[in-house]
Amino acid sequence: MASNPPNLRPDISNPRLERDMSRVRPASQPTIGMVSLGCPKALVDSERILTRLRAEGYGISPEYSGADAVIVNTCGFLDSAKAESLEAIGEALAENGRVIVTGCLGAEPDYITGAHPKVLAVTGPHQYEQVLDAVHRAVPPDPDPFVDLLPARGVSLTPRHYSYLKISEGCNHACRFCIIPDMRGKLASRPHRAVMREAEKLVEGGVRELLVISQDTSAYGTDWKDRGSKAPITDLARDLGSLGAWVRLHYVYPYPHVRDLVPLMETGGVLPYLDIPFQHAHPDTLRRMARPAAAARTLDEIAAWRAACPDITLRSTFIVGYPGETEEEFQTLLDWLDEAQLDRVGCFQYENVAGARSNALPDHVAPEVKQDRWDRFMAKAQEISEAKLAAKVGRSLEVIVDLVEEDAATCRTRGDAPEIDGHLYIDEGHEGLSPGDIVTVTVDEAGEYDLWGTLAKTPART
Ligand code: SF4
Repeated sequence: MASNPPNLRPDISNPRLERDMSRVRPASQPTIGMVSLGCPKALVDSERILTRLRAEGYGISPEYSGADAVIVNTCGFLDSAKAESLEAIGEALAENGRVIVTGCLGAEPDYITGAHPKVLAVTGPHQYEQVLDAVHRAVPPDPDPFVDLLPARGVSLTPRHYSYLKISEGCNHACRFCIIPDMRGKLASRPHRAVMREAEKLVEGGVRELLVISQDTSAYGTDWKDRGSKAPITDLARDLGSLGAWVRLHYVYPYPHVRDLVPLMETGGVLPYLDIPFQHAHPDTLRRMARPAAAARTLDEIAAWRAACPDITLRSTFIVGYPGETEEEFQTLLDWLDEAQLDRVGCFQYENVAGARSNALPDHVAPEVKQDRWDRFMAKAQEISEAKLAAKVGRSLEVIVDLVEEDAATCRTRGDAPEIDGHLYIDEGHEGLSPGDIVTVTVDEAGEYDLWGTLAKTPART
Protein backbone atom coordinates (compact mmCIF):
# COMPACT_ATOMS: atom_id res chain seq x y z
CA MET A 1 0.00 0.00 0.00
CA ALA A 2 1.36 3.35 -0.93
CA SER A 3 1.46 6.31 1.40
CA ASN A 4 -0.42 9.53 0.69
CA PRO A 5 0.63 11.56 -2.30
CA PRO A 6 2.86 14.45 -1.18
CA ASN A 7 0.07 17.03 -1.07
CA LEU A 8 -1.79 14.97 1.55
CA ARG A 9 1.12 14.56 3.97
CA PRO A 10 1.39 16.91 6.90
CA ASP A 11 5.16 16.63 6.88
CA ILE A 12 5.04 18.42 3.53
CA SER A 13 3.15 21.67 3.60
CA ASN A 14 -0.44 21.52 2.40
CA PRO A 15 -1.24 25.12 1.46
CA ARG A 16 -4.97 24.60 0.98
CA LEU A 17 -5.61 23.17 4.43
CA GLU A 18 -3.23 25.69 5.95
CA ARG A 19 -5.13 28.54 4.31
CA ASP A 20 -8.51 27.11 5.27
CA MET A 21 -7.56 26.65 8.87
CA SER A 22 -5.80 29.98 9.36
CA ARG A 23 -8.91 31.81 8.11
CA VAL A 24 -11.07 30.37 10.83
CA ARG A 25 -8.76 29.51 13.72
CA PRO A 26 -7.16 31.80 16.27
CA ALA A 27 -3.47 30.93 16.61
CA SER A 28 -4.03 29.80 20.22
CA GLN A 29 -6.33 26.86 19.30
CA PRO A 30 -4.83 23.37 19.75
CA THR A 31 -3.77 21.76 16.53
CA ILE A 32 -3.36 18.18 15.43
CA GLY A 33 -1.27 16.86 12.56
CA MET A 34 -2.10 13.70 10.72
CA VAL A 35 -0.31 11.39 8.35
CA SER A 36 -2.52 8.86 6.62
CA LEU A 37 -0.76 5.84 5.16
CA GLY A 38 -2.30 3.11 3.08
CA CYS A 39 -5.28 2.73 0.83
CA PRO A 40 -8.24 5.06 0.15
CA LYS A 41 -10.15 3.17 2.85
CA ALA A 42 -7.64 4.35 5.45
CA LEU A 43 -7.92 7.86 4.05
CA VAL A 44 -11.65 7.83 4.71
CA ASP A 45 -10.96 6.89 8.35
CA SER A 46 -8.53 9.80 8.58
CA GLU A 47 -11.10 12.17 7.12
CA ARG A 48 -13.67 11.04 9.65
CA ILE A 49 -11.30 11.57 12.56
CA LEU A 50 -10.34 15.01 11.33
CA THR A 51 -13.97 15.95 10.71
CA ARG A 52 -14.74 15.12 14.33
CA LEU A 53 -11.69 16.92 15.69
CA ARG A 54 -12.46 19.95 13.60
CA ALA A 55 -16.05 19.93 14.90
CA GLU A 56 -14.69 19.84 18.44
CA GLY A 57 -12.57 22.90 17.91
CA TYR A 58 -9.17 21.56 16.95
CA GLY A 59 -7.10 23.04 14.18
CA ILE A 60 -5.24 20.93 11.67
CA SER A 61 -1.57 21.50 11.23
CA PRO A 62 -0.01 20.89 7.85
CA GLU A 63 3.31 20.12 9.53
CA TYR A 64 4.47 17.83 12.32
CA SER A 65 6.41 20.60 13.98
CA GLY A 66 3.46 23.02 14.15
CA ALA A 67 1.12 20.50 15.80
CA ASP A 68 0.36 19.83 19.46
CA ALA A 69 0.18 16.13 18.65
CA VAL A 70 0.28 13.95 15.55
CA ILE A 71 -1.98 11.04 14.59
CA VAL A 72 -0.40 8.41 12.38
CA ASN A 73 -3.02 6.30 10.59
CA THR A 74 -1.10 3.16 9.70
CA CYS A 75 -1.36 0.41 7.11
CA GLY A 76 -0.58 -3.21 7.90
CA PHE A 77 -1.58 -4.91 4.66
CA LEU A 78 1.90 -5.95 3.52
CA ASP A 79 5.14 -6.30 5.46
CA SER A 80 6.56 -3.42 3.41
CA ALA A 81 3.55 -1.28 4.45
CA LYS A 82 4.15 -2.20 8.11
CA ALA A 83 7.77 -1.10 7.80
CA GLU A 84 6.64 2.15 6.18
CA SER A 85 4.17 2.71 9.03
CA LEU A 86 6.88 2.17 11.67
CA GLU A 87 9.12 4.58 9.80
CA ALA A 88 6.37 7.25 9.69
CA ILE A 89 5.78 6.82 13.45
CA GLY A 90 9.53 7.24 14.07
CA GLU A 91 9.61 10.35 11.91
CA ALA A 92 6.63 11.88 13.75
CA LEU A 93 8.21 11.07 17.12
CA ALA A 94 11.48 12.67 16.09
CA GLU A 95 9.83 15.82 14.74
CA ASN A 96 6.95 16.24 17.17
CA GLY A 97 7.29 13.77 20.06
CA ARG A 98 3.56 13.42 20.82
CA VAL A 99 2.24 10.66 18.61
CA ILE A 100 -1.04 8.71 18.57
CA VAL A 101 -1.16 5.63 16.36
CA THR A 102 -4.29 4.22 14.76
CA GLY A 103 -5.32 2.17 11.71
CA CYS A 104 -4.72 -1.38 10.57
CA LEU A 105 -1.34 -1.81 12.23
CA GLY A 106 -2.90 -0.57 15.47
CA ALA A 107 -4.45 -4.05 15.70
CA GLU A 108 -0.95 -5.16 16.76
CA PRO A 109 -0.11 -2.72 19.59
CA ASP A 110 2.88 -4.72 20.87
CA TYR A 111 4.49 -4.59 17.45
CA ILE A 112 4.26 -0.79 17.54
CA THR A 113 5.23 -0.18 21.17
CA GLY A 114 8.08 -2.69 20.82
CA ALA A 115 9.63 -0.47 18.17
CA HIS A 116 8.41 2.88 19.52
CA PRO A 117 7.72 2.71 23.27
CA LYS A 118 7.15 6.49 23.48
CA VAL A 119 3.91 6.64 21.46
CA LEU A 120 1.08 8.12 23.54
CA ALA A 121 -1.61 5.64 22.49
CA VAL A 122 -2.29 2.88 20.01
CA THR A 123 -5.80 2.20 18.69
CA GLY A 124 -6.97 -0.24 16.05
CA PRO A 125 -8.75 0.27 12.72
CA HIS A 126 -11.93 2.39 12.73
CA GLN A 127 -11.77 3.02 16.50
CA TYR A 128 -12.71 6.66 16.08
CA GLU A 129 -13.84 7.18 19.66
CA GLN A 130 -10.62 5.80 21.11
CA VAL A 131 -8.54 8.02 18.83
CA LEU A 132 -10.56 11.02 19.95
CA ASP A 133 -10.15 10.03 23.62
CA ALA A 134 -6.40 9.77 23.11
CA VAL A 135 -6.34 13.21 21.49
CA HIS A 136 -8.44 14.67 24.34
CA ARG A 137 -5.98 13.25 26.88
CA ALA A 138 -2.92 14.49 25.01
CA VAL A 139 -4.28 17.90 24.02
CA PRO A 140 -7.46 18.94 25.86
CA PRO A 141 -9.95 20.69 23.54
CA ASP A 142 -10.47 24.44 23.69
CA PRO A 143 -13.97 24.93 22.27
CA ASP A 144 -14.92 28.19 20.58
CA PRO A 145 -18.62 28.33 19.66
CA PHE A 146 -18.00 31.03 17.08
CA VAL A 147 -15.61 29.07 14.91
CA ASP A 148 -16.35 25.44 15.70
CA LEU A 149 -19.30 24.90 13.38
CA LEU A 150 -18.79 21.81 11.32
CA PRO A 151 -18.41 22.83 7.68
CA ALA A 152 -21.04 21.30 5.38
CA ARG A 153 -18.65 18.58 4.19
CA GLY A 154 -16.30 18.35 7.14
CA VAL A 155 -12.57 18.44 6.69
CA SER A 156 -11.30 16.46 3.78
CA LEU A 157 -7.83 15.29 2.92
CA THR A 158 -8.82 14.87 -0.69
CA PRO A 159 -9.46 17.76 -3.08
CA ARG A 160 -12.83 19.39 -2.52
CA HIS A 161 -14.50 18.21 -5.70
CA TYR A 162 -14.22 14.49 -5.03
CA SER A 163 -14.61 12.44 -1.93
CA TYR A 164 -14.35 8.82 -0.88
CA LEU A 165 -17.53 7.35 0.56
CA LYS A 166 -17.07 4.28 2.70
CA ILE A 167 -20.14 2.06 2.70
CA SER A 168 -19.04 -0.93 4.76
CA GLU A 169 -16.19 -2.34 6.79
CA GLY A 170 -14.67 -5.81 6.89
CA CYS A 171 -15.02 -8.76 4.56
CA ASN A 172 -16.60 -12.22 4.59
CA HIS A 173 -14.10 -13.76 2.17
CA ALA A 174 -10.97 -15.58 3.22
CA CYS A 175 -8.48 -15.03 0.42
CA ARG A 176 -5.27 -16.75 1.54
CA PHE A 177 -2.95 -13.84 0.80
CA CYS A 178 -5.03 -11.30 2.73
CA ILE A 179 -5.27 -10.58 6.46
CA ILE A 180 -7.89 -7.85 6.18
CA PRO A 181 -10.73 -10.07 7.52
CA ASP A 182 -8.55 -10.80 10.61
CA MET A 183 -7.77 -7.13 11.07
CA ARG A 184 -11.09 -5.57 10.16
CA GLY A 185 -13.50 -8.37 10.95
CA LYS A 186 -16.57 -9.64 9.14
CA LEU A 187 -18.58 -7.50 6.75
CA ALA A 188 -20.50 -4.74 8.53
CA SER A 189 -22.48 -2.51 6.16
CA ARG A 190 -23.44 1.03 7.10
CA PRO A 191 -27.19 1.67 6.96
CA HIS A 192 -28.44 2.84 3.57
CA ARG A 193 -29.86 6.00 5.15
CA ALA A 194 -26.55 6.89 6.84
CA VAL A 195 -24.59 6.48 3.62
CA MET A 196 -27.13 8.58 1.72
CA ARG A 197 -27.08 11.29 4.37
CA GLU A 198 -23.30 11.52 4.19
CA ALA A 199 -23.40 11.52 0.37
CA GLU A 200 -26.05 14.27 0.28
CA LYS A 201 -23.96 16.42 2.63
CA LEU A 202 -20.90 15.89 0.49
CA VAL A 203 -22.76 16.89 -2.67
CA GLU A 204 -24.29 19.92 -0.92
CA GLY A 205 -20.76 20.86 0.11
CA GLY A 206 -19.59 20.94 -3.49
CA VAL A 207 -18.44 17.39 -4.13
CA ARG A 208 -18.90 16.45 -7.80
CA GLU A 209 -17.60 12.91 -7.64
CA LEU A 210 -18.25 10.22 -5.03
CA LEU A 211 -15.81 7.34 -4.91
CA VAL A 212 -17.63 4.44 -3.30
CA ILE A 213 -15.25 2.18 -1.39
CA SER A 214 -15.30 -0.75 1.01
CA GLN A 215 -13.43 -4.04 1.20
CA ASP A 216 -16.14 -5.68 -0.89
CA THR A 217 -18.54 -3.17 -2.42
CA SER A 218 -20.84 -5.62 -4.19
CA ALA A 219 -21.45 -7.45 -0.88
CA TYR A 220 -22.91 -4.26 0.62
CA GLY A 221 -25.95 -5.06 2.77
CA THR A 222 -25.65 -8.85 2.46
CA ASP A 223 -24.90 -8.91 6.20
CA TRP A 224 -28.31 -7.43 7.08
CA LYS A 225 -30.94 -9.77 8.50
CA ASP A 226 -33.83 -7.86 6.92
CA ARG A 227 -32.50 -6.63 3.69
CA GLY A 228 -35.74 -6.42 1.75
CA SER A 229 -33.77 -6.56 -1.48
CA LYS A 230 -31.63 -9.24 -3.11
CA ALA A 231 -28.78 -6.84 -3.79
CA PRO A 232 -28.79 -3.72 -1.59
CA ILE A 233 -25.80 -2.35 -3.53
CA THR A 234 -28.06 -1.89 -6.57
CA ASP A 235 -30.53 0.19 -4.52
CA LEU A 236 -27.70 2.21 -3.01
CA ALA A 237 -26.03 2.83 -6.38
CA ARG A 238 -29.38 3.90 -7.86
CA ASP A 239 -30.00 6.38 -5.04
CA LEU A 240 -26.45 7.71 -5.10
CA GLY A 241 -26.77 8.12 -8.86
CA SER A 242 -29.77 10.40 -8.36
CA LEU A 243 -27.75 13.01 -6.41
CA GLY A 244 -26.31 14.67 -9.51
CA ALA A 245 -22.66 13.85 -8.79
CA TRP A 246 -20.49 11.32 -10.56
CA VAL A 247 -20.59 8.01 -8.67
CA ARG A 248 -17.65 5.65 -9.13
CA LEU A 249 -17.71 2.11 -7.77
CA HIS A 250 -14.47 0.61 -6.44
CA TYR A 251 -13.57 -2.87 -5.17
CA VAL A 252 -16.53 -4.65 -6.69
CA TYR A 253 -16.22 -8.41 -6.27
CA PRO A 254 -17.49 -10.15 -9.45
CA TYR A 255 -20.75 -11.60 -8.06
CA PRO A 256 -23.49 -12.40 -10.60
CA HIS A 257 -25.66 -9.52 -9.34
CA VAL A 258 -23.07 -7.04 -10.64
CA ARG A 259 -25.01 -7.49 -13.90
CA ASP A 260 -27.84 -5.49 -12.31
CA LEU A 261 -25.52 -2.58 -11.58
CA VAL A 262 -24.35 -2.17 -15.15
CA PRO A 263 -27.66 -0.88 -16.61
CA LEU A 264 -27.50 1.97 -14.04
CA MET A 265 -24.28 3.02 -15.76
CA GLU A 266 -26.07 3.37 -19.06
CA THR A 267 -29.07 5.28 -17.71
CA GLY A 268 -28.45 6.39 -14.10
CA GLY A 269 -25.87 8.74 -12.61
CA VAL A 270 -23.45 5.90 -11.92
CA LEU A 271 -20.26 6.17 -13.97
CA PRO A 272 -19.64 3.42 -16.53
CA TYR A 273 -16.65 2.23 -14.53
CA LEU A 274 -16.04 -0.94 -12.58
CA ASP A 275 -12.99 -1.54 -10.43
CA ILE A 276 -12.96 -5.32 -9.95
CA PRO A 277 -9.98 -7.06 -8.37
CA PHE A 278 -9.73 -10.31 -10.37
CA GLN A 279 -6.25 -11.16 -8.97
CA HIS A 280 -5.60 -14.01 -11.43
CA ALA A 281 -7.19 -16.01 -14.23
CA HIS A 282 -5.91 -19.56 -13.88
CA PRO A 283 -8.38 -21.74 -11.95
CA ASP A 284 -5.62 -23.52 -9.99
CA THR A 285 -4.00 -20.26 -8.93
CA LEU A 286 -7.39 -18.87 -7.96
CA ARG A 287 -8.07 -22.03 -5.97
CA ARG A 288 -4.78 -21.69 -4.10
CA MET A 289 -5.72 -18.08 -3.44
CA ALA A 290 -9.10 -19.35 -2.12
CA ARG A 291 -10.95 -17.18 -4.60
CA PRO A 292 -13.80 -18.48 -6.78
CA ALA A 293 -12.18 -20.35 -9.69
CA ALA A 294 -14.38 -19.02 -12.43
CA ALA A 295 -12.13 -17.23 -14.90
CA ALA A 296 -13.99 -18.51 -17.97
CA ARG A 297 -17.32 -17.37 -16.56
CA THR A 298 -15.66 -14.07 -15.75
CA LEU A 299 -14.97 -13.55 -19.45
CA ASP A 300 -18.66 -14.19 -20.11
CA GLU A 301 -19.59 -11.68 -17.42
CA ILE A 302 -17.27 -9.08 -18.97
CA ALA A 303 -18.90 -9.66 -22.36
CA ALA A 304 -22.35 -9.22 -20.77
CA TRP A 305 -21.31 -5.98 -19.04
CA ARG A 306 -19.96 -4.62 -22.31
CA ALA A 307 -23.13 -5.63 -24.16
CA ALA A 308 -25.25 -3.76 -21.58
CA CYS A 309 -22.95 -0.74 -21.44
CA PRO A 310 -20.57 -0.51 -24.41
CA ASP A 311 -18.68 2.45 -22.92
CA ILE A 312 -17.82 0.73 -19.65
CA THR A 313 -14.25 1.10 -18.37
CA LEU A 314 -12.95 -1.96 -16.55
CA ARG A 315 -10.11 -1.69 -14.06
CA SER A 316 -8.59 -4.55 -12.14
CA THR A 317 -5.62 -5.62 -10.07
CA PHE A 318 -3.64 -8.85 -10.27
CA ILE A 319 -0.99 -10.71 -8.32
CA VAL A 320 1.87 -12.38 -10.21
CA GLY A 321 4.33 -14.84 -8.70
CA TYR A 322 1.79 -16.28 -6.24
CA PRO A 323 3.16 -19.42 -4.51
CA GLY A 324 3.05 -22.36 -6.91
CA GLU A 325 2.35 -20.20 -9.99
CA THR A 326 3.80 -22.11 -12.92
CA GLU A 327 4.84 -20.61 -16.25
CA GLU A 328 1.76 -22.24 -17.76
CA GLU A 329 -0.53 -20.62 -15.18
CA PHE A 330 1.07 -17.26 -15.79
CA GLN A 331 0.70 -17.68 -19.55
CA THR A 332 -3.02 -18.39 -19.00
CA LEU A 333 -3.25 -15.08 -17.17
CA LEU A 334 -1.54 -13.25 -20.06
CA ASP A 335 -3.85 -14.89 -22.61
CA TRP A 336 -6.87 -14.08 -20.46
CA LEU A 337 -5.79 -10.43 -20.28
CA ASP A 338 -5.46 -10.40 -24.05
CA GLU A 339 -8.99 -11.65 -24.37
CA ALA A 340 -10.52 -9.56 -21.58
CA GLN A 341 -8.97 -6.32 -22.93
CA LEU A 342 -9.28 -4.53 -19.60
CA ASP A 343 -8.86 -0.78 -19.80
CA ARG A 344 -6.83 -0.20 -16.64
CA VAL A 345 -4.71 -2.71 -14.80
CA GLY A 346 -2.60 -2.75 -11.67
CA CYS A 347 -0.23 -5.58 -10.82
CA PHE A 348 1.59 -6.61 -7.63
CA GLN A 349 4.36 -9.11 -7.23
CA TYR A 350 3.33 -11.55 -4.50
CA GLU A 351 4.78 -10.73 -1.10
CA ASN A 352 4.43 -12.65 2.17
CA VAL A 353 2.39 -10.86 4.81
CA ALA A 354 2.80 -11.83 8.45
CA GLY A 355 -0.25 -13.87 9.43
CA ALA A 356 -1.39 -14.69 5.89
CA ARG A 357 -2.14 -18.34 5.17
CA SER A 358 -0.44 -18.15 1.76
CA ASN A 359 2.95 -17.88 3.50
CA ALA A 360 2.78 -21.58 4.28
CA LEU A 361 2.06 -22.66 0.69
CA PRO A 362 4.79 -24.65 -1.07
CA ASP A 363 6.76 -23.57 -4.15
CA HIS A 364 7.30 -19.87 -3.61
CA VAL A 365 8.38 -18.14 -6.81
CA ALA A 366 11.92 -16.75 -7.08
CA PRO A 367 12.16 -12.93 -7.00
CA GLU A 368 13.70 -12.70 -10.49
CA VAL A 369 10.86 -14.82 -11.93
CA LYS A 370 8.27 -12.58 -10.25
CA GLN A 371 9.99 -9.52 -11.70
CA ASP A 372 10.10 -11.07 -15.18
CA ARG A 373 6.39 -11.96 -15.02
CA TRP A 374 5.50 -8.51 -13.74
CA ASP A 375 7.43 -6.93 -16.64
CA ARG A 376 5.68 -9.13 -19.19
CA PHE A 377 2.27 -8.53 -17.63
CA MET A 378 2.72 -4.77 -17.56
CA ALA A 379 4.00 -4.72 -21.16
CA LYS A 380 0.81 -6.48 -22.26
CA ALA A 381 -1.37 -4.16 -20.14
CA GLN A 382 0.37 -1.13 -21.63
CA GLU A 383 -0.16 -2.40 -25.17
CA ILE A 384 -3.91 -2.81 -24.45
CA SER A 385 -4.18 0.58 -22.75
CA GLU A 386 -2.42 2.31 -25.66
CA ALA A 387 -4.74 0.75 -28.25
CA LYS A 388 -7.85 1.55 -26.18
CA LEU A 389 -6.84 5.16 -25.71
CA ALA A 390 -5.90 5.56 -29.40
CA ALA A 391 -9.49 4.56 -30.24
CA LYS A 392 -10.74 7.58 -28.29
CA VAL A 393 -9.01 10.11 -30.57
CA GLY A 394 -11.62 12.24 -32.31
CA ARG A 395 -14.34 11.46 -29.75
CA SER A 396 -16.11 13.99 -27.52
CA LEU A 397 -15.79 13.09 -23.86
CA GLU A 398 -17.00 14.59 -20.63
CA VAL A 399 -14.14 15.28 -18.19
CA ILE A 400 -13.82 16.60 -14.66
CA VAL A 401 -11.12 19.20 -13.97
CA ASP A 402 -8.71 18.29 -11.15
CA LEU A 403 -6.07 20.99 -11.39
CA VAL A 404 -5.58 24.18 -13.38
CA GLU A 405 -2.05 25.44 -13.91
CA GLU A 406 -0.57 28.03 -16.24
CA ASP A 407 0.38 25.59 -18.98
CA ALA A 408 -2.46 23.05 -18.76
CA ALA A 409 -5.57 21.81 -16.99
CA THR A 410 -5.34 18.27 -15.66
CA CYS A 411 -8.64 16.46 -16.00
CA ARG A 412 -10.05 12.95 -15.88
CA THR A 413 -12.57 11.25 -18.14
CA ARG A 414 -15.46 9.24 -16.72
CA GLY A 415 -13.19 6.22 -17.16
CA ASP A 416 -10.39 7.52 -14.92
CA ALA A 417 -10.42 7.35 -11.13
CA PRO A 418 -8.26 9.85 -9.26
CA GLU A 419 -4.80 8.78 -8.16
CA ILE A 420 -4.86 5.39 -9.89
CA ASP A 421 -5.84 5.97 -13.54
CA GLY A 422 -4.74 8.30 -16.31
CA HIS A 423 -5.42 11.95 -17.13
CA LEU A 424 -6.66 14.08 -19.96
CA TYR A 425 -4.73 17.31 -20.42
CA ILE A 426 -6.08 20.51 -21.97
CA ASP A 427 -3.22 22.83 -22.83
CA GLU A 428 -5.07 25.62 -24.63
CA GLY A 429 -8.03 27.78 -23.65
CA HIS A 430 -8.11 26.30 -20.14
CA GLU A 431 -7.64 29.57 -18.26
CA GLY A 432 -11.30 29.94 -17.27
CA LEU A 433 -11.57 26.45 -15.79
CA SER A 434 -11.64 25.59 -12.09
CA PRO A 435 -11.17 22.29 -10.24
CA GLY A 436 -14.48 20.42 -10.16
CA ASP A 437 -15.79 21.83 -13.46
CA ILE A 438 -17.25 19.20 -15.73
CA VAL A 439 -16.65 20.04 -19.38
CA THR A 440 -16.72 18.40 -22.78
CA VAL A 441 -13.51 17.96 -24.77
CA THR A 442 -12.57 16.56 -28.15
CA VAL A 443 -9.70 14.10 -27.84
CA ASP A 444 -6.77 15.08 -30.11
CA GLU A 445 -4.00 12.79 -29.02
CA ALA A 446 -3.43 9.62 -27.01
CA GLY A 447 -0.41 8.21 -25.18
CA GLU A 448 0.16 4.99 -23.25
CA TYR A 449 -1.99 6.01 -20.29
CA ASP A 450 -3.07 9.63 -20.88
CA LEU A 451 -5.04 11.72 -23.36
CA TRP A 452 -4.83 15.27 -24.67
CA GLY A 453 -7.86 17.24 -25.80
CA THR A 454 -9.41 20.54 -26.82
CA LEU A 455 -12.16 22.22 -24.90
CA ALA A 456 -15.44 21.82 -26.81
CA LYS A 457 -17.80 23.76 -24.55
CA THR A 458 -17.80 26.13 -21.62
CA PRO A 459 -18.02 24.45 -18.19
CA ALA A 460 -21.22 22.39 -17.91
CA ARG A 461 -21.36 23.05 -14.15
CA THR A 462 -19.32 25.44 -12.06
S1 SF4 B 1 -12.05 -10.10 -0.82
FE1 SF4 B 1 -10.42 -8.55 -0.59
S2 SF4 B 1 -10.49 -7.91 1.57
FE2 SF4 B 1 -11.69 -9.81 1.42
S3 SF4 B 1 -10.23 -11.41 1.96
FE3 SF4 B 1 -10.20 -11.23 -0.29
S4 SF4 B 1 -8.55 -9.74 -0.76
FE4 SF4 B 1 -9.02 -9.58 1.45
